[in-house]
Amino acid sequence: MSFTQFDFHPKITAGIKACNYETPTPIQEKAIPAILEGRDILGLAQTGTGKTAAFVLPILQRLLNGPRGRVRTLIVAPTRELAEQIHIDITKLGRQTGIRSIAVYGGVGKLPQIKKIRSGVEIIVACPGRLLDHLRDRTFNLAKVEHLILDEADHMFDMGFLPDIRRILNYLPAERQTLLFSATMPAEIRHLAEETLDNPVRVQIDHSRPIATVAQVLYTVEQSGKTSLLKDIMAKTDMGATLIFTRTKHRAESLARQLQRAGYAATSLQGNLSQQKRQKALNGFKRGEYKVLVATDIAARGIDVSGISHVINFDVPDTVDAFTHRIGRTGRASCTGEAFTFAGSGDRKIIIQIEKTLGRKMNRVNGSDLAEEIQNRTFAATEQPGKKPWHKTKKNNRSAGRSTWRPAGRTTKPVGERRQEQAPARSSKAGSGQKRQSRAAMMVDSTGNLFLNP
Ligand code: AMP
Repeated sequence: MSFTQFDFHPKITAGIKACNYETPTPIQEKAIPAILEGRDILGLAQTGTGKTAAFVLPILQRLLNGPRGRVRTLIVAPTRELAEQIHIDITKLGRQTGIRSIAVYGGVGKLPQIKKIRSGVEIIVACPGRLLDHLRDRTFNLAKVEHLILDEADHMFDMGFLPDIRRILNYLPAERQTLLFSATMPAEIRHLAEETLDNPVRVQIDHSRPIATVAQVLYTVEQSGKTSLLKDIMAKTDMGATLIFTRTKHRAESLARQLQRAGYAATSLQGNLSQQKRQKALNGFKRGEYKVLVATDIAARGIDVSGISHVINFDVPDTVDAFTHRIGRTGRASCTGEAFTFAGSGDRKIIIQIEKTLGRKMNRVNGSDLAEEIQNRTFAATEQPGKKPWHKTKKNNRSAGRSTWRPAGRTTKPVGERRQEQAPARSSKAGSGQKRQSRAAMMVDSTGNLFLNP
């Protein structure tokens, strides 16, 4: 299957090429034809599946026909970071089309937003609060909007935005195409879908399970032992860009500081930061200046960074959905990654729910097993003690993917492949028969999950 089947305008095809997309992702295969036909869509897909391009590409195609210089598409997203990311994707994919977009969110001045919109943009990507402010101030109107996209609707619900969404709907023409994307489908989102969508095409991409290409390990550890465990793992594991999640803003900030003191290029992304500082942290992480980003769930929404090799749940999230979204930051777009979850005795209930959703138990590692597990899991650290493994092996570990389509710039190798390649060097160094055996016992299942010592 290739993009040629969609018959996109050459200006859009140029955008697809510029992004190095070769093959449509499953959600793109399913959603693009229906959106091009003008149908409403209920998309059950988590982040990392290529869902942004699944709606951006056909919307650009539809916007190529018709008037320019007025707002014809509204995209609503829960966080500033996600709104920015969608805007960036539109700019890249639509570079040759001349179609203009703007990201509209709070925390920055209103005036530049008003000026740009009035100068004639066709697409607004907005967070609900700031958009409503503008609509109430009547700085612009949405009377000519033809397409509405509600992205990460479940997260908008989590953040208490549904009343705002319903208010925004009042400013839009009833006659429009509506696309609603959500990773999960709680009752409130089902109701919203019923209210807003007209005979929608349902597109579902493995919505209930965290991305299958992510290997999961659960470390049983109480709060007091987490920081030293983290440092231990980080010192001994080959890691690329690493995203660490904490439950509170304060903990994100202090953990980032502790990691900085320990010599890691770390920063934090949390709600106490100004928009400017958030963007600086995110851009630094994207550019690779920071190898470690410590974030809270809300701040981390919409993060789209190539090749996140590891997600570490320093604190277990409160909901299964949050877990799914966190894990979706690695293993994105069919690349593989590893996710480590630190869980204490108080987390039992939520872990049971997470494992129910995963459809299996995570590998548990605790106390005395830890050193051996890290040794078994690690393949680079033993080669040059004292050197942070990622500094020297990052390149080697990012050369090929396995799937028929591969995200542009995402070249992390499947974990299983990396391990197999590294195994001979490692067994000759480590020399332990037992270690060899446990390494050999690492298996990748049919969905690409890595199992440690099953
Ligand atoms: P999303 O789910 O929209 O956040 O997309 C996840 C990542 O996949 C982004 O980095 C996209 O640029 C990338 N991506 C989207 N579609 C494709 C495709 N057809 N081929 C390769 N990469 C893609």
